Amino acid sequence: MKFELPVLPYATNALEPVISWQTIELHYGKHLQTYITNLNNLVSGTKFENADLETIVKESDGAIFNNAGQTLNHNIYFLSFSPAGGGAPKGKLAEAIDKKWDSFENFKKEFVAAGIAVFGSGWVWLAKDSAGNLEITKEPNAGNPVTKGLTPLLGFDVWEHAYYLDYQNRRADHLAELWKIIDWSAVESRY
Ligand code: MN
Repeated sequence: MKFELPVLPYATNALEPVISWQTIELHYGKHLQTYITNLNNLVSGTKFENADLETIVKESDGAIFNNAGQTLNHNIYFLSFSPAGGGAPKGKLAEAIDKKWDSFENFKKEFVAAGIAVFGSGWVWLAKDSAGNLEITKEPNAGNPVTKGLTPLLGFDVWEHAYYLDYQNRRADHLAELWKIIDWSAVESRY
């Protein structure tokens, strides 16, 4: 099959206690695998058969968009974590965050507030435009800022499947904890 699960650079229990191994097993091993399997089946025999993932997300709709969007979203999401993560971004990304939000602390506050404000299932993203200016976008369901011409840098999944086992209904608590495992070098590499 064309699209495959990304290889995680950490063990399934390595992000505990922020994300439990059970959540990684289900979220990565089952939910993401299902999106990828569905996407491979759906694009077979269509004009998207040989297209790259971002092109499919930009140009498709319906079930193909939903499964392609979720594949792209989770590929970015799961490769943004490290058990040695946390701290703050450095270099040009840090400068751009300070320029837009005055401080990293203030950016985190705005980002979490946006994640809390997504009604139902969706994502909150840090994205950049072609000039390197940053913005926070809220996306419903499988949405990704590439459809707005932006480059996604960091996304927090606010679907309940991302946090319900570990935090039940406490989305805000989950989002506040995620900063402890962010691999800023991975995020900086997308900027
Ligand atoms: Mn998810």
